[in-house]
Amino acid sequence: MMVELLKRLGLNKYNVDPKPHIEVDENICIKCKEKFCIRVCPAGTYEALPDGRIVVHYERCLECGAALVACPYGSIKFRFPENGISYRYG
Ligand code: SF4
Repeated sequence: MMVELLKRLGLNKYNVDPKPHIEVDENICIKCKEKFCIRVCPAGTYEALPDGRIVVHYERCLECGAALVACPYGSIKFRFPENGISYRYG
């Protein structure tokens, strides 16, 4: 019985998408003063550098779509991660 359980647990595998599922247009973001994406993202996915560029911590993304809606300049390119997961902790 225990062996059967361990065999089944062994089936839990994550196929992590190696490519970022969010990209921003650096040329647009650097001119954006409001940085709405930072304000609305509940997961802290977007971070501004002192020079105005945006760093995307895509592994934090909850896929809620808030930043996509909030960005008035169409800078964000988003796709759902392949296999349903963008990052695996640990
Ligand atoms: S993603 Fe949109 S809201 Fe965020 S900094 Fe770039 S242009 Fe501004």
